[in-house]
Amino acid sequence: QVRQAQFKLVLLGESAVGKSSIVQRFVKNSFDEFRESTIGAAFLTQSIKLTGDDLGESLAPADDGFDDGLIVKFEIWDTAGQERYRSLASMYYRNAQAAVVVYDITQSESLEKAKYWIKELQKQASSNILITLVGNKLDLKEERQVSEESARLFANELGLLYFEVSAKSGENVQDLFKQIALKMPFK
Ligand code: GDP
Ligand code: MG
Repeated sequence: QVRQAQFKLVLLGESAVGKSSIVQRFVKNSFDEFRESTIGAAFLTQSIKLTGDDLGESLAPADDGFDDGLIVKFEIWDTAGQERYRSLASMYYRNAQAAVVVYDITQSESLEKAKYWIKELQKQASSNILITLVGNKLDLKEERQVSEESARLFANELGLLYFEVSAKSGENVQDLFKQIALKMPFK
């Protein structure tokens, strides 16, 4: 028997850091060099299967119906980063169980914007929301302005998950969503 669960995830972050591209990589496994910027917000879904091994069931086989794994459906709200939509963001993160706050590793100022969103989430969102800080555009390592160590330290201090990914190459994108799913309380 395969159990199913779903949860709402919201993406936040400055415009052009690659939020929509990360979602597109996750949902369609594709990348557009010239994608149009998001207006308001976009809604997409994608499901992944967590196996018994992922869930640690092999260590503690249980009689809970999880033996054949768990299908996790992500209901994703991809928000627009522009100032004029900022006040709308709370509509999307208010009911979210997970938030992915994205910055661009080649733009240190985008990390400052990410820190703003993290503060906002800690003030306004559900108190048990899982927040992940994501540095995107890992394929542009040679143009990096934010070191992995400093961002990871910041994330650790606040108890956030931290990933560096590339929507362009796909590096770490599947793992990002899988690790978030594994942290969700429904397991
Ligand atoms: P959003 O405004 O945060 O949704 O950003 P988009 O997904 O629209 O991406 C903004 C721009 O950055 C687009 O030109 C993308 O092609 C580009 N981009 C997004 N992700 C990556 C990445 O991982 N690497 C590179 N090199 N460019 C990216
Ligand atoms: Mg977008």
